[in-house]
Amino acid sequence: MKTLNDFDFNNKKALIRVDFNVPLNDSFEVTDATRIVSAKPTIIKILEDGGSCVLMSHLGRPKGVQEEFSLKHIIPKIEDILGVEVTFVSNCIGEEAEAKAKALQAGEILLLENLRFHDQEKQGDKDFAEQLSRLGDIYVNDAFGTAHRAHASTTIVAQFFPEAKCFGYLLAKEIESIKKVLEDGEKPVLAVLGGAKVSSKITVIENILDKVDHLIIGGGMTFTFIKAQGGSIGDSICEDDKMELALDIMKQAEAKGVKIHLPVDVIAADAFSNDANTQVVDVEHIPEGWQGLDAGPKSLENFDVVVNECKTILWNGPLGVFEMESFAKGTIALGDSIASSTKNGAFSLVGGGDSVAAVKQFGFENKVSYVSTGGGAMLESLEGKTLPGIAAILD
Ligand code: AMP
Repeated sequence: MKTLNDFDFNNKKALIRVDFNVPLNDSFEVTDATRIVSAKPTIIKILEDGGSCVLMSHLGRPKGVQEEFSLKHIIPKIEDILGVEVTFVSNCIGEEAEAKAKALQAGEILLLENLRFHDQEKQGDKDFAEQLSRLGDIYVNDAFGTAHRAHASTTIVAQFFPEAKCFGYLLAKEIESIKKVLEDGEKPVLAVLGGAKVSSKITVIENILDKVDHLIIGGGMTFTFIKAQGGSIGDSICEDDKMELALDIMKQAEAKGVKIHLPVDVIAADAFSNDANTQVVDVEHIPEGWQGLDAGPKSLENFDVVVNECKTILWNGPLGVFEMESFAKGTIALGDSIASSTKNGAFSLVGGGDSVAAVKQFGFENKVSYVSTGGGAMLESLEGKTLPGIAAILD
């Protein structure tokens, strides 16, 4: 696996695919600069080697050229974070981009305009990728968030750098973290899967059953399993057409020696509302008119024991409807358990979808070992897929 450390960037131009798809407010100011901060180590290493950086990214989902999606809005933030002046070019390909890239001196940064102003980016167009490739000597992919897409800048462009392509530090760290959990994890290995639906996590579950010793199933998914086993779930969310599958997962887990832990009690509410009346009930006896919206206290105690026994922990998906304060306690308690296990030496990876939002919202970001930067890309990795952006560098 080639990383930045395999190259000397002295007098070289690095063409770097970064993920600067950051949220902006109505005044076009960056409201969360995490992704820019995450790319900093890669950029600084190249500049310190005596090289220069051509940065390319997408921003939002523009339809053609749309001013509000211009990457020029984020220049002040990039300059602020990197402490280096940024030159900008208003088209990511073409004469001006090539001239500005050519004129770039050691220590300088050129930011290209939004790649998705061209439809060819998402189409993975080879000619467009070739035009991008003219802008650098070495291709660096540091964008995990788009590594599951075979777009021109994330995948296709790599073929124009057969000997000069590598992972940036951020992408390398993502790959190592996933490997540490799914392949080289110190036992016992635990996966906590929460979130709303079984259907969106089924491929993940099937893939990780071969990798883990314990599986905690929480969130809305719980009720498909409980109903399938004959429990009464009241008005809780349930996918009736996935009940067979749930039973099959239980069987597979047993055959593979994986211990499945489901909630034993829940916080049930008489409406899907923060102000609903609530009561703690046995997960298998939820009354009609009530729905389980969070894990109950006994479940959290059980989960805490498992989490603290395990040496490798993967967390994907909240244990309850954490967006509402009344049903966030389970997710917060799980975060506390994982933080404590991590403190005692476990490796913990949080990734995929809403769990990252939950971890940030409740301040667990620095208390777990690694928080992934890619939602969809992380889910696809957990499903066992080889991401095209990663395969293109390994080729
Ligand atoms: P996912 O994107 O699959 O990880 O699902 C996250 C969503 O699951 C969050 O928006 C939660 O509000 C939701 N969720 C978690 N637990 C429940 C539950 N018991 N009932 C309904 N939705 C839930």
